[in-house]
Amino acid sequence: IYILGIESSCDDTSASILLNNKVLSNVVASQKIHEEYGGVVPELASRAHQQNIVPVVHQAIKKAGITKDMLHAIAFTRGPGLMGSLLVGTSFAKSLAFGLNIPLIDVNHMQAHILAHFIDESGFNKPPFPFLAMTISGGHTQIVKVTNYFEMEVIGETLDDAVGEAFDKSGKILGLGYPAGPEIDKRAQLGNPKAFQFTKPKVDGLNFSFSGLKTGILYFIQKEVKANPNFISERLNDICASIQYTIIGILIDKLKLASKHTGINHIAIGGGVSANSGIREALKKGEQKFGWTTYVPKFEYTTDNAAMIAIVGYLKFLEHDFADQNISASARLKI
Ligand code: ATP
Ligand code: FE
Repeated sequence: IYILGIESSCDDTSASILLNNKVLSNVVASQKIHEEYGGVVPELASRAHQQNIVPVVHQAIKKAGITKDMLHAIAFTRGPGLMGSLLVGTSFAKSLAFGLNIPLIDVNHMQAHILAHFIDESGFNKPPFPFLAMTISGGHTQIVKVTNYFEMEVIGETLDDAVGEAFDKSGKILGLGYPAGPEIDKRAQLGNPKAFQFTKPKVDGLNFSFSGLKTGILYFIQKEVKANPNFISERLNDICASIQYTIIGILIDKLKLASKHTGINHIAIGGGVSANSGIREALKKGEQKFGWTTYVPKFEYTTDNAAMIAIVGYLKFLEHDFADQNISASARLKI
């Protein structure tokens, strides 16, 4: 079965072709335009999607070595995400499926970040059911109990900022570029994680909060810079290491609690922040310390990509779970 997946929920336009559960192509056009604004500008994102979508889909088909009349179905991101961005992918998928007279499959972006683990990649194991998935991205922070491909329940989530935002906003305070997650990660590996202490938020149960941490970091930096104007440049690696250490501590504490509550020891992560070297290391340690088996997706399937949309398309295709031509994008779609 050949599936075309299309992703356009935020600021990456992506198209991918899968042959069953194997990736033949996964083309991602990242929009550079947002860097100068320090965040995603919705209007610019949707305009860039309009420019990118045709060449990106065309390239995905070409790279896969197939032609469009060989496709069996088209899967697209229905939500959650930015409405203007989602509309571009949704309308394109609908018209192409209509033109080719093949099924259309709607995909929930947050489910896709989890089901990316079921892409067939050598060297990567698929988690067995039931497992816990922690999705950590630019817009979300969730712990999800996954009972089956389409039976999943959010058992904890952030009450305010997402963990990716915690990285990006900390980076902004430090004068780093957007998105700051990758640079904080790089610098953290050169710094001392215990150089500075930040207060962890106190949130009961499995929910998260990151906005207080961001404020704490802001006040700390302001105070230090007042005493020494060169504080940031002199201690940047140590600051990054300490911030990252604090954030990872918060994530691991909640995973421990979730594992204890549910009795589930298979733990998978997904979303852009799962590219972080510190979280990957902490999970590996958790295998020895807490008896976990952990699953981290291949790097290119952690941030937004269409291969994860196409794998959900394939799994839904097997169930004959198709969408109607009158389906619409949904910015706040829930799992
Ligand atoms: P959502 O999936 O919730 O709609 P999104 O699609 O915008 O959000 P992703 O593309 O999955 O989010 O992830 C982007 C986020 O990942 C950014 O906040 C970025 O800073 C963060 N990120 C990427 N690489 C790293 C890293 N190595 N360490 C920490 N954070 C990272
Ligand atoms: Fe995402």
